[in-house]
Amino acid sequence: MLSAIGTARRIDALGRVVVPAEIRKLLGLSEGDLLDIHVVEGRIVMGRIEHRCTFCGATDDLTRHRERLVCASCVREIANPTA
Ligand SMILES: [Zn+2]
Repeated sequence: MLSAIGTARRIDALGRVVVPAEIRKLLGLSEGDLLDIHVVEGRIVMGRIEHRCTFCGATDDLTRHRERLVCASCVREIANPTA
């Protein structure tokens, strides 16, 4: 787990805040990534929303099973492991 790091950024007139490049790089955030934003005990907590298969990391043909995303290929493999 990462230790706490931080910096100060000013909110602009439209309410936007830039995530500093060093933090984007550290967390592997890219343009177009979705961020989940929560308020927890008065603090804003953000994290990337992962839309990847739990088993292989694929991003296509995902379905949700028991709160986990699984791709169609892994579903087939799990359903018929000898194939
Ligand atoms: Zn998969």
